[in-house]
Amino acid sequence: MTTERLDWADPTLREWDAAVLSADPEVGIVLDRSAFYPGGGGQPPDHGVLLWQGVQTRIVGTRKGDDLYLIPAEGDPLPPPGAAVRGAVEDGRRTTLMRTHSGLHVLCGVVFRDFGALVTGGNMDVDPTSAPMLGVARMDFNLPEVPSDFKSRIEELVNAEVRRDRKIVDRVLPRDEALAIPDIIRTQTNLVPADATEVRIVDVVGLDVQADGGTHVASTAQIGRVEVTKVESKGRANRRVRIRVVD
Ligand SMILES: [Zn+2]
Repeated sequence: MTTERLDWADPTLREWDAAVLSADPEVGIVLDRSAFYPGGGGQPPDHGVLLWQGVQTRIVGTRKGDDLYLIPAEGDPLPPPGAAVRGAVEDGRRTTLMRTHSGLHVLCGVVFRDFGALVTGGNMDVDPTSAPMLGVARMDFNLPEVPSDFKSRIEELVNAEVRRDRKIVDRVLPRDEALAIPDIIRTQTNLVPADATEVRIVDVVGLDVQADGGTHVASTAQIGRVEVTKVESKGRANRRVRIRVVD
């Protein structure tokens, strides 16, 4: 991977200068430095634009291969290799996804702490029908028994943690040190690649520590209000919790 990840260094960064390393209409555009979140861990990739010589290239997705490829909108002109570009990440979408992702970690922390359940899967997106933009997400838990008031209780518990304004910090640790943290792997299957020598940790301080590659808000109060919209049974022990993040 030749692209420097600016999204990890500063998740609030929305505009930056970069140089084009390669550009191919089939494969995508590679920059020397990029704040586009490339997708992963349930968080979809960013959208945005590249501006160069008075021309705009819309970026509608990413592709991870041997490099981090930015996917241009169909028909948009491509900046030539070597070109200086101004990159910009679409703020509404990214900020909504950051709040939603952090909201999922609070949910994960609360359900583990108070119900002892591990996560089996999760996903998030922006609701394309909402204006202003809202984040929607689901998380699956291994939880054979649920109390009858589970839905309202977890909503109350999650929003109590949001109001406590817990700090959310990330750090990169050597693999052994990271995996030695109790409960670090909240998903039932270990998602840390076997060959990873370092592991990025996202810590909702005092509530939840996870190996995670996503972008997050700086403290839980920035999430906003979390609505638990549905709790569904998906299989004998699997409970799917759907949330919506509102202001
Ligand atoms: Zn996460």
